[in-house]
Amino acid sequence: MTRTLPLRVTPAAGEALDSWLEALAVRFDVPLGDICRQFGIPYQGSHRPRWLLWVSADERRWIADATGIDPDRVGHCTLSTYDHKAVEIDYTKAVLNPAFPFTRHVGSRYCPLCLAESGGRWRLCWRLGWAFACLRHNCLLVDDCPRCGQPQRVTQSRWLTVPYPNRCLHSNRTEPCNADLTDAPVITLTETDQIIRTQRMLFDIIDTDRADFGVYCDYPCHARDALRDIKALAVRAFMYANRHGISAITPPTLVGGLAHHDPSPRRRTRYMSNRANIAPARAGEAAAAITAALNILREPNVADAGEHAAWMDERRVRPCYPKELNTCVQESPLVAAILIKAFAPRRGPCTQLRYKSPLAFPVAPSESQDWLRCLVQRVPAVFWPAWTVRLTPPDGRYTLPLALSCAVLLVGTDCNPRDAAHLLGDATNGSTAGQHLMALQQLPQWNDVCLALVRAGQYLATHPAPIDYARRRQLDYEDLLTEDRWNEICRQTGESPGNGMRRQIARLYLYEKISGLPARTAGFMAHSKSTIGFWLRVFNFPAEASAQFASILLGEARQFLSSKGIDEPLVWHPPLTLMHDLTLPGINLEHFGRGELRRALNEGHTTRIGHIARRLNTSNAAVRCLLDIEIDKTSITAAKYYISPHPVRDRLCVELTPAILEDRYIRQGHSLGAIARSYGVWPPLVRKLAEMYGIPLRGRPTRTSDWLYTEYAVKRRTCRDIATEVGVGEVTVRHWIKRVKSDWPPLPAITHRQIGVRASRALLSPDAMTDLQRRELRHFARALDYPTVHAAAEELAISEGNLRKQIHAVERRHSTCLIQRARRGMAQRPTPDGVRLAEAVRVAIGLG
Ligand SMILES: [Zn+2]
Ligand SMILES: [Zn+2]
Repeated sequence: MTRTLPLRVTPAAGEALDSWLEALAVRFDVPLGDICRQFGIPYQGSHRPRWLLWVSADERRWIADATGIDPDRVGHCTLSTYDHKAVEIDYTKAVLNPAFPFTRHVGSRYCPLCLAESGGRWRLCWRLGWAFACLRHNCLLVDDCPRCGQPQRVTQSRWLTVPYPNRCLHSNRTEPCNADLTDAPVITLTETDQIIRTQRMLFDIIDTDRADFGVYCDYPCHARDALRDIKALAVRAFMYANRHGISAITPPTLVGGLAHHDPSPRRRTRYMSNRANIAPARAGEAAAAITAALNILREPNVADAGEHAAWMDERRVRPCYPKELNTCVQESPLVAAILIKAFAPRRGPCTQLRYKSPLAFPVAPSESQDWLRCLVQRVPAVFWPAWTVRLTPPDGRYTLPLALSCAVLLVGTDCNPRDAAHLLGDATNGSTAGQHLMALQQLPQWNDVCLALVRAGQYLATHPAPIDYARRRQLDYEDLLTEDRWNEICRQTGESPGNGMRRQIARLYLYEKISGLPARTAGFMAHSKSTIGFWLRVFNFPAEASAQFASILLGEARQFLSSKGIDEPLVWHPPLTLMHDLTLPGINLEHFGRGELRRALNEGHTTRIGHIARRLNTSNAAVRCLLDIEIDKTSITAAKYYISPHPVRDRLCVELTPAILEDRYIRQGHSLGAIARSYGVWPPLVRKLAEMYGIPLRGRPTRTSDWLYTEYAVKRRTCRDIATEVGVGEVTVRHWIKRVKSDWPPLPAITHRQIGVRASRALLSPDAMTDLQRRELRHFARALDYPTVHAAAEELAISEGNLRKQIHAVERRHSTCLIQRARRGMAQRPTPDGVRLAEAVRVAIGLG
């Protein structure tokens, strides 16, 4: 049963409950214990009464009944007012939760001026670790007694005496200190001082339980979270102060004051760990560190805050290790973002990618393996050409795309370039990739390049991608574009199947497309020798192959995929719009109209990527990429703009259809040479056409062939004749003969009778001869009448050389010697064959 007190003492605004009880005790001139007993609240045996933290509903009512004060107002005198805002109360243990940032478990700071003014009324907020300045008097709060240097209100043990609220209650062994706390010296500041502004801001956050200033405009939050952020930054400011002295972080207005008003330097705050939640020991230190933290958070966005926080990274003996940032993430993601922004510019490209530092809100790499697994599946070993062309300078090296792929694997993961290269199929190695990234970092546009890579990584990890490159890297490409399929495709499209190398090039082109790996890693190339020229041709393939041919090949690639049970598009890349707003060192392919490429192809009459690139004044990679896009787009209306590398053959294909060729070669028995002559083309071309059409060729001779022996040695045909017939060059036939001649059986003799028969019947029939041949024969027959060719030539009024040539031609055609040349004074004379032929000629032509 409580009794109403006869005199009322109302609690001052923001007064603590113990202060108010003392004020009552002073007013009634009784010990504090009596007041407590009067209100029914416990006091004996308790140095730190629980009711400093909270009073129960009953106690509140009893106090209200006894004093006539509103029960809620009583409640406001306890720290429960600040529960979850500036402290956290553990109601089961009746203590403050030490996990709450900057919890001050015991004691109270004070403003001597306030104490003097109010006659010893202590404010509740002075018990908070977050209070360091008096907003009424614009001064720093005082930590301890000016005489004995002990902190105040640590325990409440004087229950049995009348209290002296503005006196120091500490005593040494002999006598109490009893110093007048209102005499304590204070550090005064101006109202506009940043420390006062900081304190006002802090109380605003705590009172409204909301932070929405500066960086919090975009991420508003409760006081609790904001205080955690402030603590995380303040602690780092302390750690900076540990290295460089407290004056390094103290605002100039406070530096002088701190130096003169520091009675107990032994109680300095030293933060060795950034996990510490205890409040700074000194008000001055708290003011300096928290002001430094809030100055950073006051910036309008994370990037600016990061720039402002860069000083924390300065003059460090060791660089800030990722571990430090990782713990910071657990403490406060916002501060982690700010610190990443602050530290990233001085870190390597890998760190920047891992922490996604170019993002508006960078985050530390996630521990989860799912993210990395997603990236490994969705990134090809060779970065998408459309992206590479945009991201890298035009003169970038060919291994650069491999480095870019590794870079994407670093985004938001703990991966390093070496592991990334391994995960992507060992197409490159970590050090090469790392070097490329370092080189890219030197570019003025690096920040946007890095941002593009980060966006790509984020997009892949959070959006479904239609292609699983990890699976494609594992496929067996041995039966990609088999020889049979290749020949069939060539037959359909009228392309030349080539000698095997061309098929290999086409295979590599498809291998690159499907697997996302560089061509040189193809398993089927393992045992074949390859030159730089070969790889240039592989690179050049999209320009060399007609659009129609290439699109048929791509269809073949799709069939290959479905034969492996894979239902995926052939190629894909993340949308280029992710790079829309960025300034990148590469070439924007959207600036090239389709007409431009076509014009370059047509006007240049070229099928070399390098030539086209020079005409378009762009990079080779860009042209290759454009050609690829063209092929994809024009697969239906193919080859409209395309300049064929084989215009003659293409024309011949139209004129000499399979039906015509088959009819002439098989049914009529014309030789390939004859057919070629009738179309005015080179015989090997007709042979190629026949191969393409699948027309079986008549025994093509090899150098050991009996056929060659028969034709050359027995029938005595000339090399040119045979070459024409076979469809090869004359030199080739000579070569064959030279190789096998020694193995041939002895040549059969040609009888004179045979010559005579030939001469009379076949060769000399007027129909079978041209005018030239007729003239040659006439001159031959006339030449026999003179002793020497020289004399004959003079008589016939032609040059001696010409006549000799004509005689030779006749001899060659009849495959025998006709005249024994004049020598050593003997006149020339005809051989028996010559005599016979001359007679036959005279009869046939009528020389008479
Ligand atoms: Zn004050
Ligand atoms: Zn004292």
